[in-house]
Amino acid sequence: MPKMMVIFLSLAACVTCTGHGPTVFFSNEYKPIYKRSVCEPDKPFPQMVLIPFFEQATQIVPNCQTYPKHETALALFAFYHVWTEYFGDRDYAVRGMLKKVTIQWDINKKVSKKGYNLKGEPFEDRTVIGRVEADTMTWVWQGYDHKISRSALFHELVHMALRAKYGTADPDHEGPKYRGWTPAHSAMIIEAKQVLGAFNL
Ligand SMILES: [Zn+2]
Repeated sequence: MPKMMVIFLSLAACVTCTGHGPTVFFSNEYKPIYKRSVCEPDKPFPQMVLIPFFEQATQIVPNCQTYPKHETALALFAFYHVWTEYFGDRDYAVRGMLKKVTIQWDINKKVSKKGYNLKGEPFEDRTVIGRVEADTMTWVWQGYDHKISRSALFHELVHMALRAKYGTADPDHEGPKYRGWTPAHSAMIIEAKQVLGAFNL
């Protein structure tokens, strides 16, 4: 290959790799629409609030403390940061999911008729703290000590990330029935929780 061609190609490669890699977060713009979307303590609940920095992402809240929208936004940043460290996001499928996600917070737990534990063993009629309801919608109990890092949010986000990437949310986690979830995903959740916990959230 001629020398000039090599120089041109490496320059072109550099141009395309600056600024838009998955490690670069979402647009830093805080759009006016987010200013209008606020939790109003005197109005009836549940209320739906846009999550700033994440385009159409929303949360449905049972009160204004569960959770302030910037705390949820920071949780999504932490999740995506650690996800890309572990798995990358070349096709932006996970980023796309986060920009559309709806998180429904609840102050009460639920009983699930059927499900699987982390090792893939099935259970029936068990109290659960989170559940994916649709491709980009999840219900999440508020978490122990009222902390996002101690809720099932990141667990449910992994389900939805897997669905966005591979078409299945892998309901049996590390079990063999469905594919997608690996021990690395379980480890990634723990690390993302530690990141968020460092912000006391
Ligand atoms: Zn699960």
